[in-house]
Amino acid sequence: MGDLTLLTDDHHELMRDTVRDFAEKEIAPVASQYDESEDFPWENGAKMSAIGLFGIPWDQVYGGAGMDLLALCIAVEELARVDASHSIMVGAHSSLASSPIARWGSDEQKDRFLRPLASGQVLGGFGLTEPGSGSDSAAMRSTAEKKGDRWILNGQKTWITHGGVGEIFMVGARTSPGIGGDGITAFLLTKETCDLDDAKRVGFGHLDALDPMSGFTAGQKLRKLGWNASDTRELIFEDVEVPEENVLGEVDRGFQVFMDTLMGGRIGFAAHALGIAQGALDQAIRYTGEREQFNTKIQDFQGVRFMLAEAQTRIHAARLMIYHAARLRMEGKQHKKEAAMAKLFASEAAMDITTVAVQLHGGYGYSREYPVERMMRDAKITELGEGTSEIQKIVISHEMLKEYARIA
Ligand SMILES: Cc1cc2nc3c(=O)[nH]c(=O)nc-3n(C[C@H](O)[C@H](O)[C@H](O)COP(=O)(O)OP(=O)(O)OC[C@H]3O[C@@H](n4cnc5c(N)ncnc54)[C@H](O)[C@@H]3O)c2cc1C
Repeated sequence: MGDLTLLTDDHHELMRDTVRDFAEKEIAPVASQYDESEDFPWENGAKMSAIGLFGIPWDQVYGGAGMDLLALCIAVEELARVDASHSIMVGAHSSLASSPIARWGSDEQKDRFLRPLASGQVLGGFGLTEPGSGSDSAAMRSTAEKKGDRWILNGQKTWITHGGVGEIFMVGARTSPGIGGDGITAFLLTKETCDLDDAKRVGFGHLDALDPMSGFTAGQKLRKLGWNASDTRELIFEDVEVPEENVLGEVDRGFQVFMDTLMGGRIGFAAHALGIAQGALDQAIRYTGEREQFNTKIQDFQGVRFMLAEAQTRIHAARLMIYHAARLRMEGKQHKKEAAMAKLFASEAAMDITTVAVQLHGGYGYSREYPVERMMRDAKITELGEGTSEIQKIVISHEMLKEYARIA
C-alpha cells in the first residue's frame, strides 16, 4: 500500500487492520453466497454493529466511536476490498443517513435519531431520488402540506438503499412552490424494518421505542446488476403524519441539507470504489502469480506487469485524492471540487481495474468461481450513485471555472 503517514495516523491504521481482519474472517467466506441469494446479510450486520462500525465518526455521547471521516473512509475501503454489499451497509448508514442528523440536527433530534443509528441499533437510509428525478433531484414531486402542528407527506422515492431493512430515514419533500431546490424540506421519518424476524433473531436492526409512522412503507426489493446483498427499494408515503419537530434544518431550505450530505457522501462513496479496485488488484496479483502459460508464470510477462503497474498507480492516486478530500471536509475547508474529483477518478479506476482483473483471470475471470466478476458488477454502481460521473464533471467544471474567474 505504501507509506500513508502524511495523511493517516495510528488510529486510522488500527481501524484499517481491525476492519481488514474482520472482512477477511467474516465476510470473504460468505460474500459470493449472499451475492447469489440476494439476501440481506443480517448476521454480519449484527457483528459489524457489535464492533462499532455503524458509528465510526460520531460523538461518543451518542454512542459513536468518536473518530472521523477519514476513519470511516478507511473502514469502507477495507470492507469494499472484500465485498461492496457489506461496505455500502456502513457507507449509506453513516454518510447518508446519520451524517445529516449529526451536522444539522437539534440536540433533541440527535438524541432520538442519531443515538440509535450511531450505536448501531437500527439501520438508516436517505431518500432523495424519485422515479422522475435523479440527477435533477430538485425536481422531486413528493409533497408535504402543513396541517396544524403536523406535516402530511405524500409521494414516492426510488432506489433507496436500506429502504426495506432500515428504520430511520431522511427524506425530501416539496413544502412550497419554488424554483430548483427552494421550497424543499428535509424530514426524519420512521418505519419498521421489513425483516422483523431476522432483526429480532440477530438482535440488531429493530427498536421498539421508534414509533413507526402510519402510511410510510417500502416497496418490493429492486433486482440489480450488482450490490446484490444490499437492500434497495422504493419508499412510499401515503398521508404520512410527520410532527413538526421532525423537520431537519429549516422549512423550505432542506435542499442544502441534501447537497451538503452528498458532498461528504461522495468522499465515502469514492472509498467503496477504491476498496473494490484494491480488492480486484489483490486478486489479480494472486492469480497471475499462480497461473502458468507457455511454461511461464503469467505475472512474468511484461504485458501483464504493465497492467498491474497501471492499476497500482491509479489506486494510489485515488487513495490520495480521497484522503485529501476527507481531510479538507474534516477541517471545514472548501472540498466540493475535491470530493467530486475523488469520486469521478476512483469510480472510473474501479470500473477499469475490475475489468482488467477479469481479463487477467482469462476464462476463469468470467466464472463465479473467482470473486472478480462480482467486483466488476459491483464497481459499476460507483459511476452512478451519489451523482453520476457526468454530474461530477458538471460540479468540477463549475467549481474550477469559478476559481479561474476569481483569478482573472
Ligand atoms: C443501487 C442503487 C442505490 C441507490 N441508493 C440511493 C439512495 O440510498 N438514496 C437516493 O436518494 N438515491 C439512491 N440511488 C439513486 C441514484 O443516486 C441515482 O440513480 C443517480 O443519481 C442517477 O439518477 P437517475 O438514475 O435518475 O439517472 P438520470 O438522472 O436519469 O440520468 C441518466 C443519464 O443521463 C445523464 N445526465 C443527466 N443529467 C445530465 C446532464 N445535465 N448532463 C449530462 N448528462 C446528464 C446521467 O449522467 C446518466 O448517464 C441509488 C441508485 C442505485 C442504482
